Amino acid sequence: MSPSFSRRRALQGFALLIGTASVIRPRGSRAAELPNLSPTDPMAAALGYHESAVKVDAKAFPTYQPTQSCVNCAQLQGAAGAAWRPCALFPGKLVAADGWCKVWAKKA
Ligand code: SF4
Repeated sequence: MSPSFSRRRALQGFALLIGTASVIRPRGSRAAELPNLSPTDPMAAALGYHESAVKVDAKAFPTYQPTQSCVNCAQLQGAAGAAWRPCALFPGKLVAADGWCKVWAKKA
């Protein structure tokens, strides 16, 4: 085996390692790349989404209860403790863990 061949094999191995590292990401990092859901998003607005549940006007949203927020909703996904997490109702976006919307459902 010539030295140049070994160097080439080493560079190929390094390139493979870098390529693999870019494909394999730590769990949850994909969620961090998603944009936050805006309350002005048409579907978010239709469902009365608020980034902060404590700011929900209970008169305008009579189903709202002060104990409800995204963090205890059955639709919330992702890692516990994260401030912004995926929601089954808003694919491709993150909702505020402290948020709320009209279709809140108690987590089992
Ligand atoms: Fe939050 Fe649940 Fe509404 Fe999703 S469905 S935005 S988790 S209250």
